[in-house]
Amino acid sequence: MASTRKVPLRKCVGCGEMKPKKELIRVVRCEDGNFVLDATGKKNGRGAYICNSGDCLGKAVKSKGLERSFKQAIPPEVYERLEKEMNEIEAR
Ligand SMILES: [Zn+2]
Repeated sequence: MASTRKVPLRKCVGCGEMKPKKELIRVVRCEDGNFVLDATGKKNGRGAYICNSGDCLGKAVKSKGLERSFKQAIPPEVYERLEKEMNEIEAR
């Protein structure tokens, strides 16, 4: 059996494209209802993924992709943190 390693793909809530997990930022809703950005992908809770891209963040805000994914309103500071996180990743 040839072992073709499958890269796990996740859908970006901004552009809607399927991408490898490591190219995406995971947004997690913890059990206490708080949202965190999960760089390690290991946190428990319901997660959504978004490309490391300001374009996708803008699209997600407009299309309410995160709201739809979590079926609830997303606090503005979650978007602010995402934006900050993306800027930091770009600066590396
Ligand atoms: Zn995207």
